[in-house]
Amino acid sequence: MFAVPNGAKRVRLYLGIAMIVMVAALTLGKTTASAEEVVNLYSYRQPFLIKPILKGFTEKTGIKTNVVFAKKGMLEKIKATPGAADAVLTVDIGRLHDMDEAGLLQPVQSKVLEQNIPSPYRHPKGHWFGLTLRGRVIYASKMRVKPGAITRYEDLADPKWKGKICTRSGKHVYNVSLFASIVAHSGEAKAKKWLMGLKSNLARKPQGNDRAQAKAIHSGECDLALANTYYMAKMATNKKKKVQREWAKAVYIVFPNQKDRGTHVNISGAAVTKHAKNRGNAVRLIEFLSGEYAQKLYADQNYEYPLKKGVKTHPLVDSWGKFKADTINLAKVANKRATASKLADQVDYNNFRPSN
Ligand code: FE
Repeated sequence: MFAVPNGAKRVRLYLGIAMIVMVAALTLGKTTASAEEVVNLYSYRQPFLIKPILKGFTEKTGIKTNVVFAKKGMLEKIKATPGAADAVLTVDIGRLHDMDEAGLLQPVQSKVLEQNIPSPYRHPKGHWFGLTLRGRVIYASKMRVKPGAITRYEDLADPKWKGKICTRSGKHVYNVSLFASIVAHSGEAKAKKWLMGLKSNLARKPQGNDRAQAKAIHSGECDLALANTYYMAKMATNKKKKVQREWAKAVYIVFPNQKDRGTHVNISGAAVTKHAKNRGNAVRLIEFLSGEYAQKLYADQNYEYPLKKGVKTHPLVDSWGKFKADTINLAKVANKRATASKLADQVDYNNFRPSN
């Protein structure tokens, strides 16, 4: 054996340090990589619906999700903290459109999304994507409205329904989008005339949510109402509030405008925020939401219409029959929302009084 010269010792020491640095770098690199595998979300959609879907996403992709569930103020939140959320989940084209108009969204090109989501229900440049459909339909009294007595939204302005119609606020996003679709199809002047006619047929001052309209039909306050499709199923299957099952039993769904443009539909949807820090993961998430697994959960848990072809609707939803949906691009409808909202003000829709 011979003594190891100092120089060789130094080399070993350097090698040792180099190894430690390499391992540290690798570990750090790994930490950084896994820290990137997240997607941060703002959601107006409720936890019961979204949590199981996100669980499936994380299991499949390894990408973790952080969700802030909110009931309002999403637009302001995104403005105040750019980059805090990578994607948004919400309902109604109005909310997506408002965020887009405020410059808070960014375009996404994705073959998967183009394949899964029919073009009327996504932004032409990929600023937002519809994930499910809901029809804004007419609820009619089983006792007092014969099938076929009303077939079009336009009929709601017919004086024969004077004092027979209930709706929620004319300024609520769901109604503004429906009114906007009338503006988009018939023009502002006709839409205004129609809205005046509808107002003059109201049974009471606009109030309550969609379910409250079914309740009012059940109690005999009105014969017709405007409401979204899924509420019918939610009432009919309500285990906690059995009285809602009675409301559901009192009404049937009329899908308006089946012989012309089709029933006005709206979307629940998603979009990537302009300052997303995890853009790729956000896109993967939206792709996942448009896929079979998530679409099935939307259909089964919330009674919405899946947008991906081949995914089955819930049997209860099926029982209402097939319907033709309006295929105007929702971006066009969204562009008329400001006009629709203005018309609701002009005709003073929400200040209806029965003595009018
Ligand atoms: Fe709703």
